[in-house]
Amino acid sequence: MNVTKKHKKKTHSKTRKNIKQLSFYSKAPEIIKVNGYSLLILPTPKRHVTLIDCQLLGGFYLETKEQAGISHLLEHVVSFAWKKCGVESCTAYWEKYGVESNAHTTISTNSYWIKGLSEFFDKMLEYVVDIMLRPHFTQKRIDKEKTAVENELNSYINNPSWKLNDAVCKNLFTIEGMRYANDDKTQLKVLKTLTKKDLIQYCLDFYTKKNMLFIISTGIPKDKIISKFERLTAGVHKNETYNYQVVKSVCFQDKKKILFIKNARAENTDIVICFPLYMYFDDEDFIYLDTITEIVGGDLSSLLVEILREKLQLVYGASCYATTNMCGSIVYISISTLDKNIKKVLKKTFKICKKYSKKLISTNKLLRIKREHKLEVSQYYLKDVDLIRDFYAEQFLFQMNNDKRKIYTLKEKTKKILGLTKNKVKNMIMKMFDTKHCLIVYQGKKKVRFNIDNI
Ligand SMILES: [Zn+2]
Repeated sequence: MNVTKKHKKKTHSKTRKNIKQLSFYSKAPEIIKVNGYSLLILPTPKRHVTLIDCQLLGGFYLETKEQAGISHLLEHVVSFAWKKCGVESCTAYWEKYGVESNAHTTISTNSYWIKGLSEFFDKMLEYVVDIMLRPHFTQKRIDKEKTAVENELNSYINNPSWKLNDAVCKNLFTIEGMRYANDDKTQLKVLKTLTKKDLIQYCLDFYTKKNMLFIISTGIPKDKIISKFERLTAGVHKNETYNYQVVKSVCFQDKKKILFIKNARAENTDIVICFPLYMYFDDEDFIYLDTITEIVGGDLSSLLVEILREKLQLVYGASCYATTNMCGSIVYISISTLDKNIKKVLKKTFKICKKYSKKLISTNKLLRIKREHKLEVSQYYLKDVDLIRDFYAEQFLFQMNNDKRKIYTLKEKTKKILGLTKNKVKNMIMKMFDTKHCLIVYQGKKKVRFNIDNI
């Protein structure tokens, strides 16, 4: 599903001093326009670490069926498209600097990032700006990356669950590119036909000022960052031939459905339940999504796991998470169970969601999520350049072209989470797990008769 999950990283900082909690921001940071490019600076108390990221609105979203996967191949090629890397690869160029870098394509975004010691800030910024604005394509690199992507796609196909993920996208979205985002077989076919010319044209079309957001998370002073960024972007004559703009639009199929995908060799049956939700980044309840999913699924004291695993011994785990993009939000529940229990698990899962749409959760459950949030914030968020980026990047990216943006700061989120009431949790569960348009996809040996009219 190309779901970017939250990963909680440990920092090993031994600082006991009272660090200025800059990342908490009493006022949301703002996008600065420099030579027409959007730059977001996220000051952190960590002076010695810098993370530079360029995120783009697009990903699979912008593709047609005939182009399925082009943005993924382009992502591979662009991350090596720095002239300074020379004949050697960029990996060899960066080796001695000890940096970390990577690029990603998701259902609706692309991202290119590099993280390293702040003493290499100039070099890292030059790399990211150059590959974004002046990518240098070589046939040799394209051929290498085509082989790498071919291997990557084949490895996904080796895992039968690619069909489950593909069915989710095909039946959840209306936008062609999103529907083919997990169709690895189609992408493999298209991959073989893609040429250097196609990649250059696609890059010209969609890597534009309107879709591109530079994010710098660092302790380096702002004026130094801006002047360097200004110099690097000044002389660029990028031919922005296409003026495509990603905007928020209705892109869910909105049909209540259950689908079976046969996998004769499966041991367990995997179930994914999706709830489309018209909730965007500027919604007053957006900031609660993650917290409510944690109450519903995840660890042992979540509502689903407590009942399905501890009480009924039907599953090992049940995860629940939400993603948001220009279509709105999608709430997922993901469960694996024995074939004989499919119906029971489905019935129980919907029953639990329905029950807590009407009934209040316990005081302990409410206290747990509030305290967990506090712990998470003080342990990780205030120190980690990656998490600060993760917290703000999507909020800014998806509202980049809006006249008015609603950006939640970590401080605001914390205030809202600590102020959560049982009643609010109940109302959110009712909103998020509305079965009116829910999609159920399950994969295993056995097809069951399950009447979705009863949920
Ligand atoms: Zn890849």
